[in-house]
Amino acid sequence: RALDAAEKLNETLNAFLAIDRRGAEARAAELDQSLGKLPATGPLFGIPIAIKDNICVRGLQTSCGSRILGDYHPPYDATAIERLRAAGAVIIGKTNCDEFAMGSSNENSAYGPVRNPWDIERVPGGSSGGSAAAVAARIVPIALGSDTGGSVRQPAALCGIIGLKPTYGRISRYGLVAFGSSLDQIGIFGLRARDVAKVLSVIAGRDPHDATTADVAVPDYAAQLVPDAKGVRLGVPRALFGEGLDPEVRRAVEGAIEAYRDLGAEIVEVELPHAKYSIACYYIIATAEASSNLARYDGVRYGFRAEEADELIEMYRRTRDQGFGAEVKRRIMLGTFVLSSGYYEAYYRKAQQVRTLIREDFHRAFARCDAIITPTSPTPAFLLGEKTDDPLKMYLSDVYTCIVNLAGIPGISVPCGLSSSGLPIGMQLVSRHWDESTLLRLAHAYE
Ligand code: GLN
Repeated sequence: RALDAAEKLNETLNAFLAIDRRGAEARAAELDQSLGKLPATGPLFGIPIAIKDNICVRGLQTSCGSRILGDYHPPYDATAIERLRAAGAVIIGKTNCDEFAMGSSNENSAYGPVRNPWDIERVPGGSSGGSAAAVAARIVPIALGSDTGGSVRQPAALCGIIGLKPTYGRISRYGLVAFGSSLDQIGIFGLRARDVAKVLSVIAGRDPHDATTADVAVPDYAAQLVPDAKGVRLGVPRALFGEGLDPEVRRAVEGAIEAYRDLGAEIVEVELPHAKYSIACYYIIATAEASSNLARYDGVRYGFRAEEADELIEMYRRTRDQGFGAEVKRRIMLGTFVLSSGYYEAYYRKAQQVRTLIREDFHRAFARCDAIITPTSPTPAFLLGEKTDDPLKMYLSDVYTCIVNLAGIPGISVPCGLSSSGLPIGMQLVSRHWDESTLLRLAHAYE
């Protein structure tokens, strides 16, 4: 059923870059055969799942929404995929995204934008727009994305579903194509907190293939869900509810704060004094890391190679010129600039110092509360083309989300209402390192 829906709805939504009917049917048949036999069936037995096209799935393409990877087929599964399969999940296809996960609207994909299932004239958010649209359109109950500065939470908000970015180091990045390695984290989209909790328990945890994964126990998150917020101190950073925030979004999030009070939470005011520097800081660190990570696309190792070059440097130049889109080039140039000698101290070093101040802000805030609430995105879904001419305007979509990646803490977006034109609005909840349990509990209590 998921395969039929994916094929049918893709004509309108463009959410999938590859649909693996053969592989998924074969896997489903295999699972049917195993029914009733030992070993016992896995916790995700038979659940169809869609995967963002920057996460390696053996035998399927991994284009990252870019021409430069062409039809690269990785010979291995990402650790998260290996764990999903072992739990009985069925991978049905690869989802569209902004090129190398750079964007907030899915309009930077080399394969055309994804459309928002709530209104196909609007963007689904980005960069994991295909995964968000696939869940919002009820094609699959669960999808994986990646979140470097908001790419799971922001599209979840714009598509009216749940999106979780766990703590940095919670889910292995082995097999996730690198964008900003100190910020990247695989995230989970779902319709219900319980589903997201189950998937997190399956894919989280230490992995010898990723040295940044931590040896922190992975609880049975679903078993911990309770339907109230008693004893939770919820922090509200009022200063972030001002300038640039759509009044309808503000009202919806204020409503959610009241709902949490009714569910037993204690509401406290907190301050994040360095939050105003987060976008500047993020776009320095993320582009610096991207410029280094994307150096590997040289026409030799993977996918696409430009023709008509007589010598090596010319081949690199043409391959990268023809293979990368405009936003990726912009970021490689920005990143190279901020790392270059003479500017390194002024930009990159400074951004790292600000990052430390941001972490300390959260540390202080979490001495007074257990979770912090903000909007996820300053506006509901915007129109296709509305922000494509102005990269700075587009970058502002990440104002509430990128700060969370800079701090390395977990964040979740939960639907909290509709705008007057019927578009979904999301709130963001963030908590201390490794405390995904509180986020899932709060998401569940609000449902
Ligand atoms: N929108 C942000 C960016 O363009 C975040 C992207 C992401 O999280 N992958 O960098």
